Amino acid sequence: MLLPTVLCILIGTGLAVPMDELRSNLEWMDYSTNVAESAYRLLDTIQPRTMRVDLDVFLNEARFDGIVSMDIEVLASNIEQIVFHQNVVSIQGVNLVTARGDPVGLKFPDPFTIDRHYELLLINLAQPIAAGNYTVTVRYRGQINTNPVDRGFYRGYYYVNNQLRYYATTQFQPFHARKAFPCFDEPQFKSIYIISITRDRSLSPTYSNMPISNTETPSTNRVKETFFPTPIVSSYLVAFHVSDFVETSLTGTDSRPFGIISRQGVTSQHEYAAKIGLKITDKLDDYFGILYHEMGQGTIMKNDHIALPDFPSGAMENWGMVNYREAYLLYDPQHTNLINKIFIATIMAHELAHKWFGNLVTCFWWSNLWLNESFASFYEYFGAHYADPSLELDDQFVVDYVHSALTWDAGTGATPMNWTEVSNNSSISSHFSTTSYAKGASVLRMMEHFLGSRTFRNGLRYYLRDNAYGIGTPADLYAALRRAASEDHVFARDFPNVDVGEILDSWVQNPGSPVINVEFNTNNGVITLTQERFLLTGSRDQLWRIPITWTDATTRNFSNTRPSLIMNTRTVNIQGNAGQHWVMLNIAQSGLYRVNYDDSTWQRIAAFLRTNREAVHKLNRAQIVNDVLFFIRAGKITTSRAFDVLSFLENERDYYVWAGAITQLEWIRRRLEHLPQAHEAFTAYTLDLLRNVINHLGYNERATDSTSTILNRMQILNLACNLGHSGCISDSLQKWRQFRNNPTNLVPVNSRRYVYCVGVRQGNSSDYNFLFERYNASQNTADMVVMLRALACTRDTNSLQHYMFQSMHNDRIRIHDRTNAFSYALQGNRENLPIVLNFLYQNFAAIRTSYGGEARLVTAVNAISGFLTDFAIIREFQSWVYANQLALGTAFSTGVSVINSAISNLEWGNAEATDIYNFLLARSSSTTVTSSFILMITALVVKMFH
Ligand SMILES: [Zn+2]
Repeated sequence: MLLPTVLCILIGTGLAVPMDELRSNLEWMDYSTNVAESAYRLLDTIQPRTMRVDLDVFLNEARFDGIVSMDIEVLASNIEQIVFHQNVVSIQGVNLVTARGDPVGLKFPDPFTIDRHYELLLINLAQPIAAGNYTVTVRYRGQINTNPVDRGFYRGYYYVNNQLRYYATTQFQPFHARKAFPCFDEPQFKSIYIISITRDRSLSPTYSNMPISNTETPSTNRVKETFFPTPIVSSYLVAFHVSDFVETSLTGTDSRPFGIISRQGVTSQHEYAAKIGLKITDKLDDYFGILYHEMGQGTIMKNDHIALPDFPSGAMENWGMVNYREAYLLYDPQHTNLINKIFIATIMAHELAHKWFGNLVTCFWWSNLWLNESFASFYEYFGAHYADPSLELDDQFVVDYVHSALTWDAGTGATPMNWTEVSNNSSISSHFSTTSYAKGASVLRMMEHFLGSRTFRNGLRYYLRDNAYGIGTPADLYAALRRAASEDHVFARDFPNVDVGEILDSWVQNPGSPVINVEFNTNNGVITLTQERFLLTGSRDQLWRIPITWTDATTRNFSNTRPSLIMNTRTVNIQGNAGQHWVMLNIAQSGLYRVNYDDSTWQRIAAFLRTNREAVHKLNRAQIVNDVLFFIRAGKITTSRAFDVLSFLENERDYYVWAGAITQLEWIRRRLEHLPQAHEAFTAYTLDLLRNVINHLGYNERATDSTSTILNRMQILNLACNLGHSGCISDSLQKWRQFRNNPTNLVPVNSRRYVYCVGVRQGNSSDYNFLFERYNASQNTADMVVMLRALACTRDTNSLQHYMFQSMHNDRIRIHDRTNAFSYALQGNRENLPIVLNFLYQNFAAIRTSYGGEARLVTAVNAISGFLTDFAIIREFQSWVYANQLALGTAFSTGVSVINSAISNLEWGNAEATDIYNFLLARSSSTTVTSSFILMITALVVKMFH
């Protein structure tokens, strides 16, 4: 799933460390497939083999009747209860027979018990039964959820010529299949599913994982479709879709089907997904050596992709029938910008990669969700990169996923990839996090650079082949990689005593990520490395096995990412070359770690970057700016040295380097908002840094621009316009006025985000209304999201109030975009905050309903974090949170943590502002300020909140 989201091998003879010794070294967790003591988990003594699910669906009434008939295998004797999941409306009756069809007696008068807390159905047997095969039949009633956020089998809507149409589809991951049919709803219980759906004749044929095998007409108005048996699959991957949607098959063939499905009226937007999706399938087929269309275990596997107007996740990898939000599948060259086009390629690659990692081989339990999601996230970039290298996704991976993993891991709350705490619905949901996605994918990239791409791929092939249609564990994966490594003679020669599983496991078990502190002795060439966990606050005693790559000022070898050693102790010395100006670690940021150099080395790196930055790999420059900005936040570098290093940005033109810098520069600028002089000076400083790159990029796209040049213009001009850059604003206003004067003069698609924002911000209510009408008339949802964001740039109070009201009541703002609209309103202008807060104070109960439930209210309250930079407003927010403690429900604790983080943000600003302000003043004059104005404000904060 993508969130707005995976062989027992004989050990190869080349293994250097005996298995028993390795186990004792590693503190291996128990990878058994069951947690017997937890009432939350099903016992594995009963296994489903074939599930027949037969639903009678009444779309307009949002309900269905169901019969599920399960062939099960009982593996133990003297079983007294058969237990599995259910969360349906009501159970009408249960029945149990032996494999020969003989009835098995159930307890009287309670043949079954419903456990609402654990969402279980317990079938009570009159007598204990022996091991063997049985069939359980359950008749029940279910509801089609009318709120998509409730997931399970849910209903959405759209309009054809102003006429309301419904469709119903499924989202079962991680524990929602039980809302559609009683089942063994854990990933380890894999079985064959045979689905039948009966629907109104007026609708299109139903979609499910497999093609239709049989059609019947039980009555004149009803049609029943039965689908071919699925391959052996977990319940969360079962799917069906009932609607009057339409399909195109622009690239598919009979032997290699490929379909794009959407509501009527937007089929002209199918082509890009049809082309890139099939290409990605081809590349992954070649890479994994297992063919997608042959995965159907007897039936050709179809490859359908459905665009949904309402979808609570980003996309979902149901086998044969992937669901997406419309914006992530439909492409219109006039209205879909490059970022959204890239999303289509990457999200399709993510969902397609799941067919191997997740569907074919499934994580045994959600505690190790990374076995699904880390691989999907890795091939999200690299699978799409193989299909279209011009998108530069191999490099984008670093500034997107490696940087976001390091950001996430800098907090004390970061969890390990193997998170043993996963033992209930909420902890399962929490583990669909940066840890399982970006962090796990970054660890895989590190392993690929360590092993070499061929050996890495061979290991994955072993893992997939040996565990196909079953479950996978970390131990299975380590064994497969170990086998591939032992067959790679170069690897075995270079790393004779290194165990691959041991290295990977240190990243799987450890929460957080390390920083390596480097002391370089230029006299004797000794490089002393010390590792510790990188945290913004506090410290933890942890140790990783870190692949180390490095180069120096003379060698400047930025192409060799094969590590020269594995650091497995706190401190290690490397003999480098005496007399070098600097050393640099983590080539192309192939490892998941930050690097902090001693002050003299930083000084020499800073000097080199100012004169010769292009001699340093762009991804290392990106790492340096990102690391340094985090070291400022963590107090691990002096302010003057940090800005000395950052000074090369003045001449920097590269997308990746700026991508590593912008978010953190903005983080610091926002921390100074309550100190107007320092804030103004920092804004001016950022604009100074941007001057050259803006001149280099220009305001208009050129036909020869690369992907990263276009992305760079988008990120730089968006920031520049927001900071008040006069050239950016006047160019945007010109484009906006041409558009307003004649709406056929479309704003270039990649400029829309900031041009629309400037137009609405500098304009009045008529500019807002003009864009709002465009929003309501649009047929491209990616473009609609761009407009929704820009509408919130309005400075007109009535328009902003209209916007907030629309976020609750306009049914063209989809439920998954409503909390986004709330966040956009906060981002639009600093002055929006009081209006947005007032809206929250007045409407929080209604927001809970109209945004989609309690979790969405929590998201909205959480969005405020980072925008509370004014003392009086924090105080007012604090009073409101405490006055409404009961009514806020779970949003109360979110409100409290928002207040705490606002206070600590202010304190950070107060503590650092004097240094930063003095540095900024020193750039233009030698006068510095005393810290008295800052101290006065600090005292005030302390008085107010402690
Ligand atoms: Zn996924």
